[in-house]
Amino acid sequence: MDHIVLVGASAAGLTAADALRLEGFTGTLTMVGEELCPPYDRPPLSKHVLAGTLEPHKTTLRQDADLQRLRMDLKLGRRATHLDPAARTVTLADGDRLDFDGLIIATGLRPRRLPFGRDLAGVHVLRTLDEALTLRAQLLAGPRVVVIGAGFLGTEIAATTRSLGLDVTLVGIEPTPLAGQLGTQVGGLVADMHQENGVRLCMGRSVTDLLGAGGRVSAVVLDDDTLLPADVVVVAIGSVPAVDWLADSGLPLGDGVLCDSTCQVAPGIYAAGDVANWPHPLTGERTRLEQRTNATQQALTAARNLLAGPGGAKPYAPIPFGWTDQYDAKIQFHGWCPADARIEYVDGDPQARKFVALYHAGGRVVGALGWNSARTLRAYHGRLAAPIAA
Ligand SMILES: Cc1cc2nc3c(=O)[nH]c(=O)nc-3n(C[C@H](O)[C@H](O)[C@H](O)COP(=O)(O)OP(=O)(O)OC[C@H]3O[C@@H](n4cnc5c(N)ncnc54)[C@H](O)[C@@H]3O)c2cc1C
Repeated sequence: MDHIVLVGASAAGLTAADALRLEGFTGTLTMVGEELCPPYDRPPLSKHVLAGTLEPHKTTLRQDADLQRLRMDLKLGRRATHLDPAARTVTLADGDRLDFDGLIIATGLRPRRLPFGRDLAGVHVLRTLDEALTLRAQLLAGPRVVVIGAGFLGTEIAATTRSLGLDVTLVGIEPTPLAGQLGTQVGGLVADMHQENGVRLCMGRSVTDLLGAGGRVSAVVLDDDTLLPADVVVVAIGSVPAVDWLADSGLPLGDGVLCDSTCQVAPGIYAAGDVANWPHPLTGERTRLEQRTNATQQALTAARNLLAGPGGAKPYAPIPFGWTDQYDAKIQFHGWCPADARIEYVDGDPQARKFVALYHAGGRVVGALGWNSARTLRAYHGRLAAPIAA
């Protein structure tokens, strides 16, 4: 293999580059990323960068010298617009065409937006460093903030903005924050935590409109006609895989790039990170993970499998791991945390906000969650089994 192209210059793309060189690939390596800045880490964006406690440049994933050691042609500020798998070319927005023998797709996600209020100033999404800095600049004026969406991103943004002393309302369609991710029982604890910290919760509600005055957002309208005054609105209603550039490629697409169990999409073409959707060998279910650890682990597998070829490729079968930091809570979770699972508290005390909970489904322990209990949580890792395939 002479030339490998990586599309997506972030956690997964960069890990793939590292892995390819570590595994002995000496050919030409090209990485394409549509953002101008070198690869950086996203988890701090909704936490320390938004809070202003971490300098933006400290999110960088590699110093310049380390990037140079990878001996790659790093094409930043360049967007891939087309892939021809048969001709083995990737076309960029400026018309440049890159030939490849091997390709790793690592283009991540784009934030979902509301169908209204798009042109109003003060309406934000948060996925990139630029977006975090733009939002941070707006927060300095001490506005009334409404966060729409009570998943991981929305709850983190609510916690950070509230920690800055702002007036914050969190709106979510589910009965509790994080209900879809961690279930309503743990979600109830998350709701308590936000309320104790002074966040106004509007749960079980959807947003029907955004009102504006003089071109700037002024209020959020809910489905029960509640009007929430707002100077800044953050839309955190999930993301969609960044596969627009692959639309006419003929590659199998659905909720992401549809790979096989080894992360291969087509001969010599692999996907990794938030954009990759693969049949998890332990569950048989198609899976797409939006977790930082997965971006690294899956990129390692994709890179090794690309070099090994189909004969030597190994299935990708991780136990998922994710975390969120909100106020003084560090919540970490391994495995699968289905919303309808039975929860067993096995260590500590939920009311004291220091505990470990196990998620039981189908007679097995399928997930483990630690709330300010990182060390204890690790001890339960070995007890996890995958859910039984339906
Ligand atoms: C604000 C925020 C906070 C988070 N916090 C946590 C956390 O606390 N814990 C956790 O486990 N996970 C967290 N995550 C998730 C974690 O950051 C992601 O799982 C991880 O970034 C995925 O890496 P990736 O490389 O697959 O995709 P991304 O990081 O999305 O990178 C994809 C890159 O591809 C580029 N790209 C897209 N399309 C094109 C194209 N056509 N041409 C060229 N380049 C393109 C994009 O600009 C982007 O730089 C958070 C995510 C965000 C946004």
